[in-house]
Amino acid sequence: MNAYLLKNGRILDPTQHWDMRGDLRVREGRIAEIAPVLTPEAGETLIDCTGCWIAPGLVDIHVHLREPGQSYKETLQTGGAAAVAGGFTSICCMPNTDPPLDNPTLVREILARAKRESPCKVYVVAALTQGMRGELPCDYHALKQAGAVACSDDAFPVQSAEVMRRAMLGCAAYGLPVVTHCEDQTLSAGASMHAGAVSALLGLKGAPSSAETVQIARNALLAQETGCALHIQHLSTAIGVSLVRWFKAQGVPITTEVTPHHLLLTESACAQFDPDAKMNPPLRTEADREALTQGVRDGVIDCIATDHAPHAPFEKAQPFPAAPFGVLGLETALGCVLLWNAQLPQPLEPLQIVNLLSTAPARVMGLPAGTLQVGAPADVVVIDPERRWRVNPAELHSQSRNTPFKGWELIGKVRYTFVDGTMRHAAE
Ligand SMILES: [Zn+2]
Ligand SMILES: [Zn+2]
Repeated sequence: MNAYLLKNGRILDPTQHWDMRGDLRVREGRIAEIAPVLTPEAGETLIDCTGCWIAPGLVDIHVHLREPGQSYKETLQTGGAAAVAGGFTSICCMPNTDPPLDNPTLVREILARAKRESPCKVYVVAALTQGMRGELPCDYHALKQAGAVACSDDAFPVQSAEVMRRAMLGCAAYGLPVVTHCEDQTLSAGASMHAGAVSALLGLKGAPSSAETVQIARNALLAQETGCALHIQHLSTAIGVSLVRWFKAQGVPITTEVTPHHLLLTESACAQFDPDAKMNPPLRTEADREALTQGVRDGVIDCIATDHAPHAPFEKAQPFPAAPFGVLGLETALGCVLLWNAQLPQPLEPLQIVNLLSTAPARVMGLPAGTLQVGAPADVVVIDPERRWRVNPAELHSQSRNTPFKGWELIGKVRYTFVDGTMRHAAE
């Protein structure tokens, strides 16, 4: 049962600096053996990986699974199915559910349900403040004991610096990273896109870059003072990248992520009033996009995360200003990243790509993932890096359809996804 021999692939493991042709054996849920050539054994299923990458399962530390309370958008099951279809074997779900994940009972319940219902591994990022109202800290000790890996008020960024400072002190005491969506809402109120040339043309209210950068600076200063590990979500501005570069140089414990959509798209994607191009933080300028690319290249940006944010078709069918923020990400992330990479004058190496989508995000959240060490759980993805495919929203495993990449030709397709040695996804 569940014994596989993956033959003749390009084995990529950032944790061991491996980029080599070879075979990988999966047995009893674990990575049993890796070598240039392995001989098939009785009872093994042989999988020809010629031309494919064999990599640690991808890790997405920023996913909205919508349970409890909004299962019409996504569920632990459909979100997990989207994850494994996209090559992800571990994901972190965000707490802005209904009710929010701000207490240990709910955290335990989601973790227990995910074990039964989700085809991938699910970790919980719990709320940072009670009810995500930005007023009172949660019981971080209890959240940590319940299994939360970090705390965040993503989607409802804490506006009071004093509350954020107290929350960081509390989280630091229990070794929980604070994960922040940086947005000063006095600057972004009423905005539905980036404030710039396109918003002026469309007559839409925009959020200036400072709505993000003011809070990046504030949160980084508070992290410096409290010593709390700070993870900044979905970086979208050039100045934000510069700020993070400066604070990292001072030794402040900061990590950051960028989304595939901020690497590929700009504000011009909103020009046709497509609600599927509406997300928060918004798509910004070409100069911002280029700065994000440079930030990935020089390591200021640690990893890629999708901010997978499903919304039902009837919600996104509203006019641009009324439609909710957010786009899907799990099933298009790899194809988008490889497309983005192919457009670079000097593309990143496959090992760097695997690091950005697997090993680095696992390290940021302290997850037991992102490695092909012998003996580790067999969370493995087989990727055809050349395969081009067109995004058809109707074919997605997610419950929702809100992707800005509908009709796009992406590069790189997941062929197989294994979670604990069990095949959870196989492409046609
Ligand atoms: Zn956010
Ligand atoms: Zn989010």
